[in-house]
Amino acid sequence: MLTISNLHAGIEDKKILKGLNLEIKAGEVHAIMGPNGAGKSTLASVLAGRQDYEVTEGSVEFLGKELLDLAPEERAGEGLFLGFQYPVEIPGLSTTNFIKTAVNEIRKYRGQDTLDAVAFLKLMKEKMALMNIDQTLLSRSLNEGFSGGEKKRNEIFQMAMIDPKLAILDETDSGLDIDAIRIVSNGVNKLRSKDNAVLLITHYQRLLDYIVPDFVHVLYNGRIVKSGTKELALELEEKGYDFIKNEINEDE
Ligand code: ADP
Ligand code: MG
Ligand code: MG
Repeated sequence: MLTISNLHAGIEDKKILKGLNLEIKAGEVHAIMGPNGAGKSTLASVLAGRQDYEVTEGSVEFLGKELLDLAPEERAGEGLFLGFQYPVEIPGLSTTNFIKTAVNEIRKYRGQDTLDAVAFLKLMKEKMALMNIDQTLLSRSLNEGFSGGEKKRNEIFQMAMIDPKLAILDETDSGLDIDAIRIVSNGVNKLRSKDNAVLLITHYQRLLDYIVPDFVHVLYNGRIVKSGTKELALELEEKGYDFIKNEINEDE
């Protein structure tokens, strides 16, 4: 589904990603962990197509297409969902209307008919029940005055409505309290299927008690330096990132 090869990227003159490789297949959940400043959020931003980051080398193949050649909205149309893509507060725009626009833009991109009010409401009801969301949140202005937990709920609801092929969730900076952890993990676990994949970027091992990943990778100094299964996350929790640092120094 996603093959990242030798990805180099940075911002202004600063090199951040320095030859990152990663392969994700349909049906898999991958977690990326790593110390602060390793480049985790940069990776998410580059995959989202954020303009301020410059890719200097490498490729990202997503479902047979070069992702780096696509505009952000084309990436969404191809089936990529970025959790932090819509964190903006938009007074006057209801969350419902925002999601309706997003869903219909993607349908148009795919050459599908746009959903009319009735069909959209039906889809909303189905996903609201699945995600345990109540109507009041959705009639409020987008993200305006939302608590951290409400923003998470909204983000996960958007994900359910869009039903992406690959969801990338950067949970590093969201100050995940236990409520947020439950919202994110319930959402991800309900959407997991053999046809889609999740890339979960997280600083905390704790989240991986709730979403059990197939693979765990350590991002360190702009590269994936170690990959394993859930046990690797436990080892990191126990030993800290210094043990990775020591291993790398021994190898070099
Ligand atoms: P992580 O998410 O793993 O904590 P980031 O990708 O946010 O790491 O950051 C990686 C490095 O790039 C850090 O040293 C950070 O200071 C730097 N960096 C990130 N964004 C910017 C930016 N907009 N301008 C300058 N430096 C940045
Ligand atoms: Mg950080
Ligand atoms: Mg980050």
